[in-house]
Amino acid sequence: MSTRGRNVSTATGGAAAGSAAKTPLMKQYLATKGEHPDAFLFFRMGDFYELFFEDAVRAAQLLGITLTSRNKSDPDPIPMCGFPWHQRDGYVSRLLRLGHKVAICDQLEDPAQAKGLVQRGVTEVLTPGSVTSDQFLDGGANNFLGVLWPRPDRLGLCLADASTGEMKLAECSWDEAGSVLSRTRVAEWLVPSPVEDAVAPKLDAALAGLPGARSAVPVARYLDASRPPARWSAVVADAHADLPLALAASAAALDYLDRTQGGLAAQMTRVERWSEDAVLRLDAATARHLELFTPQPGGEPSHTLWYHLNMAVTAAGSRRLRSWLERPLASLGAIHARQQAVAAWLAPEAPRGSFREALRGLPDLERLSARVACGKATPRDLGALRDALVRLPDLAAGLERSGGEAFAAAARAMAVPPALAERLSAALVDEPPTVARDGDIIRTGFDELRDSLYSLAHSGKQWIAELEASERERSGIPSLKVGFNKVFGFYLEITNSHRDKVPADYERRQTLTNAERYVTPALKARESEVLGAEEKLKAREHELFVALRDETARYVASLQGAADALARLDAEAALAEVAARFDWSRPVLEDSDRLVASGVRHPVVERLLPRGEFVANDVRLDASDRQVILLTGPNMGGKSTYLRQVALLVLLAQCGSWVPATQATIGLVDRLFTRVGAADRLGAGQSTFMVEMSETADILRSATSRSLVLLDEIGRGTATYDGLALAWAVTEHLHDARGARPRTIFATHYHELTQLSEKLGRLANAHVAVKEWGDGVVFLHRIADGPADRSYGIHVAKLAGLPESVIERAKVVLAELESERTVEELEKAAPKRGKRDAAPAALPLFESAAPAEHPLAAELRQLAPDGMTPLEALQRLADWKRRFGA
Ligand code: ADP
Repeated sequence: MSTRGRNVSTATGGAAAGSAAKTPLMKQYLATKGEHPDAFLFFRMGDFYELFFEDAVRAAQLLGITLTSRNKSDPDPIPMCGFPWHQRDGYVSRLLRLGHKVAICDQLEDPAQAKGLVQRGVTEVLTPGSVTSDQFLDGGANNFLGVLWPRPDRLGLCLADASTGEMKLAECSWDEAGSVLSRTRVAEWLVPSPVEDAVAPKLDAALAGLPGARSAVPVARYLDASRPPARWSAVVADAHADLPLALAASAAALDYLDRTQGGLAAQMTRVERWSEDAVLRLDAATARHLELFTPQPGGEPSHTLWYHLNMAVTAAGSRRLRSWLERPLASLGAIHARQQAVAAWLAPEAPRGSFREALRGLPDLERLSARVACGKATPRDLGALRDALVRLPDLAAGLERSGGEAFAAAARAMAVPPALAERLSAALVDEPPTVARDGDIIRTGFDELRDSLYSLAHSGKQWIAELEASERERSGIPSLKVGFNKVFGFYLEITNSHRDKVPADYERRQTLTNAERYVTPALKARESEVLGAEEKLKAREHELFVALRDETARYVASLQGAADALARLDAEAALAEVAARFDWSRPVLEDSDRLVASGVRHPVVERLLPRGEFVANDVRLDASDRQVILLTGPNMGGKSTYLRQVALLVLLAQCGSWVPATQATIGLVDRLFTRVGAADRLGAGQSTFMVEMSETADILRSATSRSLVLLDEIGRGTATYDGLALAWAVTEHLHDARGARPRTIFATHYHELTQLSEKLGRLANAHVAVKEWGDGVVFLHRIADGPADRSYGIHVAKLAGLPESVIERAKVVLAELESERTVEELEKAAPKRGKRDAAPAALPLFESAAPAEHPLAAELRQLAPDGMTPLEALQRLADWKRRFGA
């Protein structure tokens, strides 16, 4: 068994031994902290939350607040920091975003009434993956808690979003783990510990590959695996008994949510099974290369597809659309159904504009329902729910009026019994507060008892307000004031200059420097009436609110049905909106191994360029006669853009979306592989090459005849000859693999590869067109049949600023190298390399073709531009040489 490090902070450190730590308050703190060692403990003291010891030191750093200490005079003072209680949520939010956990320790009794030490206890534990409150959540994305349940051969996965009540279950082999785990953004991961030794390295690798959640570093917390969670949800267990590992994960998820939510079990009412067979598989690298949701390092949000595609009006609609893009479909039936729904919104009579307009400002029904379901709704939540419900009938009527059967069905799904809206409207004030215990929730006329308490409290207050005027008149003291404080209650205050006029029935209660405070029996009687009535009023309102919340909970199924219909309609209408605004067309999906499209654009690059500047291109792939396209042409010609736009074309089509093309026929794709981008960063060295090769290996292993493979510049991360040889072999393999002939586009600057078309029957050459213009070249960004013309290389070299003498000399040097000695001979002839250049022994492929101290090095050094090593210069020259021709 392997026990993995628990991320427990040494909160108390050795400081607890100091004398300051021995006070009753500190003992109380340490006992509480002991129960939540891995969370920042926010410890309420009066109007402040304080943090102590290691927590204080780290929080001060993370949150930028001042670190002080308690008991400064003590030889061993305790580090401390804090902030006023009302700033709590801001700080919680920041810590959650950094992936931390926060435990809130509140005062459980009124300090004024406490005898001795105020009782305190943890009332809430907030973790990135379990929070449900809107202020900690990103509206447009699910907030998943992810639990992994590993076995030597398989992996169980449960994703649970407590804020929407959704739960996803999946099981997969370790080979599939990367693809399954990288699809979805997860706020917090849980894994069991300890795990069997055979599993630990696989689990570590899977965790290391996880994309950062909201924090830069994905956080994994460790569950106690020795004690499998006993809590099974009956619904979940019965329906998914064939997924035992996913079920174990789900039980652990529910257990964790229960504990962090203070016993209020999240209600996972919408359990869905995820099967990788039902979706277009994308590896993690592909999602990254295509910049679906996250830009490449240094990029901007507007470089992502999501930025342009997300036209949903509501947060729930965005979440739905995002989940579609994360999991494009892989069955014709499902894709056609979604296409039909989008088409309905594009029909001339469709109420798309009015529906989208009506959605604006609509509260998040999905998250509200989830909070109602687990008894966590606040008065404000119920108010928002009422506002949403009041608007639903109009929305539904609008859909029904439009006539389409699909809309009519959606309208029916949106129906919530009107009794609920009526009840909430009758009960709640216009703007209910977030706190349930301080009153101001219930509308007058809803409950007799509440109303009588209200008027009692109110009239008492009125009487007291009037008392000031009448007592001024009676006593003849114009400056007499009525006041209130917690210790003496209501009082009459008279300044010392009027002391002689104080009426006889006043009883003195308090002496200040220049005034005295009095009460009268009548005032005291009214006071207890007012205060008593106010307390009772608050209690009654709380009672009514809880009853209302429970009553609302009985409608959860129909509320979730409505929320679901709304989210789906919003997402479908958003796809229609994108199609209409950007002039996209409906693709034909079919059961074939073709991919034929014309006028294809890159949905993001097109938007970023001035209107009309993007050059649309065609694509024609067919496994039987044009299976592999070898795309050659100079850098900056538009090769990677072309590869990406073909990938996005397929991805969008299989989401059920319209596509940026004038026409497209797509044989269903089961897996999409793209190797684009990473190696574009010149000089990134061997590690880049390693990444490139392992991604390529993965493609060769897993591509099927229904896959689409898009490769860019394979082999560029290594020395010239290795790279060319590898690219050659990879191309042959993809062309000839038995039984698995994936449609492939291979972009390369290895001109030699174009000869392959003579040998490989299903390989076709294509190139990016370049036009010579005066002394230079113009990139036309047009893809045309046939290999690239080699002559452009001269111009590119000139463009790049390489002097003519270098180019000329390069031809001579390379001719000599190639004619006289093989690469291996050069290697052998070279003196032993220093450590810096040594390649790892296990990876001979990565060794450089030319040694640093080749006899020609001195000459090369003279030719090399500043800052280039002779080795780089040699490689660069070899590259130019190939491009210019012999
Ligand atoms: P390569 O991969 O051949 O080096 P890129 O695909 O990176 O070239 O394209 C280089 C630049 O050319 C891109 O930044 C883009 O702005 C522009 N470009 C690419 N394709 C097109 C196109 N079809 N229409 C207009 N501009 C394009």
